[in-house]
Amino acid sequence: MCGIVAYIGKKQAYPIILKGLKRLEYRGYDSAGIALLHDNQINLYKRQGKVANLEEFAANKDLNGTSGIGHTRWATHGAPNDVNAHPHYSTDGNLALIHNGIIENYDTLRKELILHGYVFKSETDTEVLVHLIDDIQKNEHVSIAEAVRLALLNVVGAYAIVVISKENPNQLIAARKSSPLVVGIGGEGDFYLASDATPIVEYTKRVVYLEDEEIAIVDLNDGLKIFNINNQEKTPYIQQLELQLEALEKGGYEHFMLKEIHEQPRSIRDCFRGRMNADEGWVSLGGIKEYEQKMINAQRIVMVACGTSWHACLVGEYLFEDLARINVEVEYASEFRYRNPIINENDIVIAVSQSGETADTMAALELAKSKGATILGICNVVGSSISRITDAGSYTHAGPEIGVASTKAFTAQVTVLTLMAVSLAHKKGTISETKFHTMLAELEAIPEKVKMVLEKNDIIEKIALEYKDATNALYLGRGSSFPVALEGALKLKEISYIHAEGYPAAEMKHGPIALIDEEMPVFVIATKGTSYEKVVSNIQEVKARKGKIIAIVTEGDETVKEIADHVIEIPDTDEHLVPILATIPFQLLSYHIAVMRGCNVDQPRNLAKSVTVE
Ligand code: GLU
Repeated sequence: MCGIVAYIGKKQAYPIILKGLKRLEYRGYDSAGIALLHDNQINLYKRQGKVANLEEFAANKDLNGTSGIGHTRWATHGAPNDVNAHPHYSTDGNLALIHNGIIENYDTLRKELILHGYVFKSETDTEVLVHLIDDIQKNEHVSIAEAVRLALLNVVGAYAIVVISKENPNQLIAARKSSPLVVGIGGEGDFYLASDATPIVEYTKRVVYLEDEEIAIVDLNDGLKIFNINNQEKTPYIQQLELQLEALEKGGYEHFMLKEIHEQPRSIRDCFRGRMNADEGWVSLGGIKEYEQKMINAQRIVMVACGTSWHACLVGEYLFEDLARINVEVEYASEFRYRNPIINENDIVIAVSQSGETADTMAALELAKSKGATILGICNVVGSSISRITDAGSYTHAGPEIGVASTKAFTAQVTVLTLMAVSLAHKKGTISETKFHTMLAELEAIPEKVKMVLEKNDIIEKIALEYKDATNALYLGRGSSFPVALEGALKLKEISYIHAEGYPAAEMKHGPIALIDEEMPVFVIATKGTSYEKVVSNIQEVKARKGKIIAIVTEGDETVKEIADHVIEIPDTDEHLVPILATIPFQLLSYHIAVMRGCNVDQPRNLAKSVTVE
């Protein structure tokens, strides 16, 4: 959360930073701010709300400067207002700083700094950093870079920061711990810094991902230098970005979310491209190949994740257990890390995270690693922190996901987990050759079937119109469709602010059934398969209480059609692949309801993508 972006070079910094902030806005949109260095003056502009507010406010101001820093905030400490917006200034205006993360010992540091005479303007934890650096620099008579290093030695918490100073106009100083930071090396001796590569890619493909507790100094005369927190110089590892600029644009769609929903036939195909071949009858996930035997022999696999990724893990649990007969436990990363879990070197822990930066998931992995477990990752963002600390893993290859509510990243995560489960089951001999070949053939057909589900858009839009004013909704499913119900409910909550709950269909009668009346829409996944008849009975129970039933059924279903108020048909497929198809109507439904309610679909209130704070 919080997006940071900075530039130093020969070009005007403002347009680069402003555009960068727009690209990073998915990380937070409580406020936005920019500091520009010009004529030995740091000009600071900040505004509550979206980057567009800042843009409007800054128009007609002095926006000159070839060096600057910018920030889009997801508030952790202090209300989202103009004063708490970043950048934060030192008292004499010599330094300005942007920060992503949380300074956990800020209260202690703040009290000490107040004793040293500092007056705080904001309620943020961040402001202590700028005064601390200033205090150290003045008292120890060291360079700004050294003051930054010494200050960070006193800091407990997470940070990605960039510091700009009047004293060294040719320099920006950046550092990170737990929050991400990328340095882009431009072709004209210029440098770009950002929370991820999206603001950088249109200027350069050469990037360096900073590691934890590294400090980078970008200097127009001396180039890029990286030190660790103990002041040892490190050789920058320059990587080539594969990201394409078009992937960051809306491409004619009204919202990123809609674009991403429609990208799924391609993103799912990209996910299994080169990893399986139905005709030749093989599946191979290169990234985890050498760990497959260990996974097969493992007494259990623990999957850790947050939010939508946690739902993908739940689907994974059903698949791993049913197909490969491997014991799986799914944990919320935030709970796992603090509850003293029993983990040893025989365990395999798989972290699933779209961004690969999720703070709780990272911490859970670090804990598992410290206990000797093998740690694997399933991430979307190439080069992300989780992909770098894990022993091995598989990328989802969904491409950049900008809409805050996850769509294509979820189906890609489920696809990777399905591939893993099928591969392990085949190697272990827990599925027949026929089942193996059917699953591969069905997987290959999934992108086409996703397209067919997307064609139901008009029907789904009509249903959305009917239920857009609901205040509550229930989502029901059984087996691997239960996590799909959870994900459907989450999508509705996230973007339309309608209260929704996902339940295993049979659990409904243990409580939520009390909520059902003629006002309550109940979304049910009732596709053909093991629990079909049971779900039909659950639907009857809803019907008997006058609830409104919207069912996702297998094409050609007649039974549910007769009972339900609405049905959305999805193509027939292998039961284990239903979660991928059944998710799509729920995504579209939430999307349309949110649009009809006038909600900001891509940037829902209070949320941000890439949750880099715990
Ligand atoms: N803790 C800082 C603030 O509230 C930064 C927040 C973040 O990175 O999410 O301003």
